[in-house]
This record gives sequence, C-alpha cells and structure tokens, in this order.
Amino acid sequence: MKNIAVLLNRVFRLQHNPLLQAVTENKDAYDNIYIVLLQEDHSDASSIKENFYVGTLQRFVKELHAHGIMPHVMPRGDFIPFIQTKQITNVVMAPDIMSYHSPKYDAPTLVKALHQLNIEIHPIKANHYLKPSQTLKSDGSPYLVFTPFYKKNRSQLKHTVIPAYNIKELADKTAPSQDIYELTHTHHGTGEKEAQHKWQDFLDMHIEDYLKNRDYLSDIRTSQLSIALAYGLLDIRQIMNDLLARLHDDETAYEAFIRELMFREFYYVLMTQFPEAATSSFKEKYRDMKWSDNREHFRRWKDGETGYPIIDAAMNELRQTGFMHNRTRMVVSQFLTKDLFIDWRLGEEYFRRQLIDYDNASNVHGWQWSASTGSDAVPYFRVFNPIRQSERFLGDGAYIKQYFPVFKDVPVKFIHHPIKYEAALKGDYNITLGVDYPYFIVDHKTQRDHMVNKFESF
Ligand code: FAD
Repeated sequence: MKNIAVLLNRVFRLQHNPLLQAVTENKDAYDNIYIVLLQEDHSDASSIKENFYVGTLQRFVKELHAHGIMPHVMPRGDFIPFIQTKQITNVVMAPDIMSYHSPKYDAPTLVKALHQLNIEIHPIKANHYLKPSQTLKSDGSPYLVFTPFYKKNRSQLKHTVIPAYNIKELADKTAPSQDIYELTHTHHGTGEKEAQHKWQDFLDMHIEDYLKNRDYLSDIRTSQLSIALAYGLLDIRQIMNDLLARLHDDETAYEAFIRELMFREFYYVLMTQFPEAATSSFKEKYRDMKWSDNREHFRRWKDGETGYPIIDAAMNELRQTGFMHNRTRMVVSQFLTKDLFIDWRLGEEYFRRQLIDYDNASNVHGWQWSASTGSDAVPYFRVFNPIRQSERFLGDGAYIKQYFPVFKDVPVKFIHHPIKYEAALKGDYNITLGVDYPYFIVDHKTQRDHMVNKFESF
C-alpha cells in the first residue's frame, strides 16, 4: 500500500502549484492521496495577523472544495498521528517557505519527525525562484554581498514553461476529509484570484512609475506582492515570466523591480546557508554587543509614542493594518537599533507578531541591515535622521495626518519636527506637546553620537 500526503501549507494556490502538479502526474502510483493543511498557531500574533492568516487559509479551503477536493485541515500536532492512522508512506512538501509564523512549521522540523517514521519525503521548491546550491561562487561558498550575487545569478532568470495539470483528475483520486471544517473567517485575508488581479493591475498601471514612486508614502505605490508571496498565492515563476516578457517596454523600471525580488532570493539563500543568523548577529564580532535594556523606550517605540511623527505613524500603520512600507520599515528599524540602541532581535520578533507578510529571511536580514550587524549591512555611522526622512518621503504629510488626526489642520512644514514649532502648534492649532502628542523621547544627534561610540569601542 502506497499512500501520499501533499502538504499545501502556505502554497495556497490551485494554479501553477508544483506540488499539485507533481502529485497529479504521479497519481496512479498511489492508492490514496491526502491533501493536508496544517494550521499555524498564531496565539502570540496580533489579532489582525491571525485573522488574515485564518481568512486566507479558509478561502483556499473554499477554493479546494469548489474544485472537488476536501482537504484534511489540522493542527500541526495531529499530523504524525494522522500519518500513522492513514498509513501514509510518502509526503510531498515545500522546503523553501520562509513565511511561517513560527519555526516549528519549518521543513527541517517536520522532516526530522517524518524521517523517524521512515516516510519518504519529496521536497518541491514552491516559493522561491533560485535553488540555493546553484547560486554559489565558483569556490562553492555563498555570496555575502548582494550586488555580486545579483550580477552572477541574474542570468538564471529566464522564461519558464510552467506545466499544466488537471485539478479535476487529482480531485477524483483524493481521499476526502470527513470532518467538516467550519469556514467562519472568510471575510478576512485574501485569495489567489484577488492576488492575481492585484498583480496584473500593478503591472498594467503602476510598474512603470515604480522607480520614481517606490520610496514615497502618501499612498501605497508599491506592489504589496510580499503578501501574495508569504501565503504562496502566486507563483514566483509566473511573476518573473510576466516581468521578463515586458522588460523591453521600460527596462529601467522592470529591472528595478526584478532587483527587489532578487533581494528576496538573496536573503533566502543566506538563510539556508547561515540559519544561525535568524537569532544571532551575522557579523560575529557583534554577537556580544551590550544593547540597551530600556523597556520603556521599547514600549514607546512599539506604541508609536516616540515624538517623531514618521516613526509613530509607521508603528500605528503596522498595528492597525499589519503592513508597513519598506521606507518606514528601514526608518523605524534604524531608530530602534541606532537611536534607542535596542537589540534588533526584539524588533524582529515584534515585526513577526504583527506583519501579515512576515518572511523570516527578509525580516531577519532587513533588521540586521539596519542594525549594521548583517552580511551586507548599512555601515553603523550612516544613520537615518527621522526628521529628514519625514521631510523627504512623506510629501504632503497625509500619512502622518492619517494616523494622527490631531495634526489634520496643521501645515505640512510643522509636522515633521513638532518641537521646533511648539509655539505655533499651541497658539494656532491648540496642540499641546506632552499632552496631545509626545515630546521626543530621545535627541537624535545625542543618540547617534552615543551609538557611534558604542560601535567604535566594541
Ligand atoms: P515592492 O517594493 O513592490 O517590492 C516587490 C517585492 O520585492 C516585495 O514584495 C518583496 O518580495 C521584494 N522586496 C522588496 N524589497 C525587499 C527587501 N528590502 N528585502 C527583501 N525583499 C524585498 N519583506 C517581507 O516580505 N517580509 C518581511 O517580514 C519583511 N521584513 C522587513 C523588515 C525590515 C526591517 C526591512 C527593512 C524590510 C523588510 N522586508 C520584508 C522587505 C520589504 O520591506 C518588503 O518586502 C516590502 O516592503 C513589501 O512591500 P511590497 O511588496 O509593496 O514591495
């Protein structure tokens, strides 16, 4: 008897799904095929993130139902007993998913448990373009700096023929779940069709202005593809095909976008080669850095009470939407690690609990970039000034006004640096600093000098 389980965790798509393709092609080799979804435990995540995850999972289950597949949805802890009861001999799974809420769902943890039961595992890459072993330098070591990685591996991006498969053929062979999985959260989250529309819309309407607009925040002008990728709603091969097919329409814009996706691949490869960087400084010399343990500073950063409007608006955006723009991710992470000199791991962990597009590789390396502890990180002496970042990238100040309505009638010039305009804010707009909006918790210049001293003397 040969029974196979197909683990579709975070590969929530029916189209261009290499796991479904592989099992459809080999369906006759098995007596029973079980489509399985392991539910992630989000008990330490924000409710926005948890609802988004559950809603997205449930929409996928609904789609499977509509195509005649009744998947087996279960908590992770039930999977091994399930394997035993159903006498499963083979498991198909994606080893390259970095967006699980917690490492306990990662492939290595599951593979270890399955090996102990002598299960044959079929790993199939589903969420990244490059195979880490094919991205290495000629001496077999990984690239530690992005630009040479990109130059070397850019030539691997080619139009890919994505094989078609018939989901109905598979549906006829799958062993349906008898349990009724209640669909209660389907108004949350997103789905494959929505993600596809959003992506096509971005390609048709916005990508040509990507380079010009990507850093500005009055409204979201980037793709938000990170969300679709975190749940496996779209296939990265299809995304690259779409980009490569249009590349010659406007090479600068399309290549800029491809380059960002290559950053994601770079961080993924780094994570496979240096998994210890998930929890400790990539640069060994900073592993014992004595970060500040000022809990009140950390709380005020999280709660958006630093007195720097760009930081506070961004932290409110994160709490209220589960998303944050790349520019502000860089600004708030530098503020935490440089101005407040707080350990990047605390920020990484907080983002993990909040971000609906959480991706362990991009998040860890994004944080280590800002903290100057990463492989190809910003030098420690090059620090964002939050006031200047606000003046440069927040345009008309609508982003700050959205999260702090107290500033709604205030001219943009006063918004970026409230203390400087304290008298005008009080006299003309009845805003009292320290009551209606906080004073700065720290002075940027003083903190910058303090941090530079710390790095230099370490
Ligand atoms: P776009 O500008 O439209 O970019 C397109 C795609 O390129 C993104 O979806 C993403 O897949 C990739 N990309 C863009 N910038 C980066 C980058 N700097 N690093 C890696 N990939 C990139 N990204 C996540 O997907 N998950 C995270 O948990 C995450 N945490 C981050 C934490 C910090 C401190 C920083 C500085 C960056 C982090 N990023 C993370 C990277 C980046 O901020 C997001 O990918 C981007 O903001 C998502 O928005 P978008 O899809 O509209 O981006």
